[in-house]
Amino acid sequence: MGSLKSDSARRRTQRHMTECQKLPLLETFYEIRVCENPTCGLRYPLVEGHPFGTRCPVCLGGTRLAAMKALPAERMTHVKELAVFSENAPARIRLHAVLDNIRSAWNVGAMFRTADGLGVEKLYLCGITPTPENAAVQKTALGAEQTVAWEYARDAVKLAERLKAEGCALWGLEQDARALRLEKTNRIAEKQSREQQVALVVGNEVTGVDPALLDLCEQIFYIPMRGQKRSLNVEVAFAIAAWALNG
Ligand SMILES: [Zn+2]
Repeated sequence: MGSLKSDSARRRTQRHMTECQKLPLLETFYEIRVCENPTCGLRYPLVEGHPFGTRCPVCLGGTRLAAMKALPAERMTHVKELAVFSENAPARIRLHAVLDNIRSAWNVGAMFRTADGLGVEKLYLCGITPTPENAAVQKTALGAEQTVAWEYARDAVKLAERLKAEGCALWGLEQDARALRLEKTNRIAEKQSREQQVALVVGNEVTGVDPALLDLCEQIFYIPMRGQKRSLNVEVAFAIAAWALNG
């Protein structure tokens, strides 16, 4: 069923693969495939070795190869070209985070990955927040649960009191009458010493930050909303705030 076009594309990518195989790198390739069923036409990526094979995941029809490319490896620090995406400048502050009563293990896993990428040194997992023993946390963390320090505490308020006594500032992310727009807190972050520890406090997906925990925060800030929804997914909000404070 393969057209002339797909055959030439295949030859091109095979030639590309042969050239790449000369390089001493352990690379995984992915293909962009296009469903040949005219009523479907799905275009999708297929990672080498995926059990689904080359059948269209929507209509199960035959597909053709449209492109092939090497998958960016997670830790190819020996590849010079990727070094430009790494940040060598020191972080603005020593950012930690208190994740209080986060219900979803998927959110927690994603927050580990975000913490790794954005230089959050340590996560305090409080209350019902699942820890990396949970398989779903590991699945979304993609190994970041090994690189970011974490500690579990049953009571976030007691933990927060301890952190404050140790000199760590608490900055809460919540829609509250006292809250400043996120970008204003960013200017406060710039004035801190690089050694200042700041714990970003985020709360439950439905109920938000515990009021007693929020009262312990020196700064409270919010991300302005423009749409119909009142808030963002907690992991997305965490990522935006961590980037704003430490980016
Ligand atoms: Zn299809």
